[in-house]
Amino acid sequence: MFMTMFRKCVSVIVFTIVLLSLQSFTVVIDAGHGGHDAGAVGLTMGIQEKDLNLDVAKQLAERIRAKYPEVAVVLTRESDVFLTLQNRANIVNKCKDSKKLFISIHTNAADNRNACGAETFILGTERMDDNLDVAMRENSVMKLEKDLTVYQGFDNSIESYIMFELMQHDYMDSSLAFAETIQNEFVNTLKRANRGVRQAAFWVLLKSACPGVLIEMGFISNADEEKWLSSDAGKKGIVNGIFAAFEKYYKENK
Ligand SMILES: [Zn+2]
Repeated sequence: MFMTMFRKCVSVIVFTIVLLSLQSFTVVIDAGHGGHDAGAVGLTMGIQEKDLNLDVAKQLAERIRAKYPEVAVVLTRESDVFLTLQNRANIVNKCKDSKKLFISIHTNAADNRNACGAETFILGTERMDDNLDVAMRENSVMKLEKDLTVYQGFDNSIESYIMFELMQHDYMDSSLAFAETIQNEFVNTLKRANRGVRQAAFWVLLKSACPGVLIEMGFISNADEEKWLSSDAGKKGIVNGIFAAFEKYYKENK
């Protein structure tokens, strides 16, 4: 009797451990902007960044869930709602899995309407001055938030970025490897202009305690690129590219 109960207990414990070990990886997919924060807006077709980001984020989540049901896939938003940068980081940090990956999806814009191409950011301060405009634009959502005290004196001024110099990023190597694979997909598979893997001070990456990237899929301010980004083929290509990079990362890090 004792042995039978003991065996039952052991098999329940083993089953639980196997189940937990199968679900120990979380990917958080963050569609940038939303609600009254439209993000960048296309100059030719009027496409809004928030809608593109959400569409790609949802398709990517679907792809990962279909092929890797053991991975917990979390979307920071699933509809057109406003979220603060801190809300997004909180969603990442609330996930208890030991292995996590954060993918923030954005669309670029510039005054120069010829600017085009994809770039993938990780948190860092190398050549920060070059990338300050992108970081300031993506962080500027703070101005739309009611409670600015969460940002502890950070007001998106150039001076405020000096504080980023003092902050270390523990996940630099794994974030960099993931960013390079994504960038390879954009350049070699999707044939997009290569703006490279860059470092910048994105609040949402700083506050998320796991490896992560912020992808600028292309320039909505460029007429050709706006058309491509908003096409079904364009979005599908981007989803395939990020998915391929995720697969590589997951296989190496699960
Ligand atoms: Zn954005």
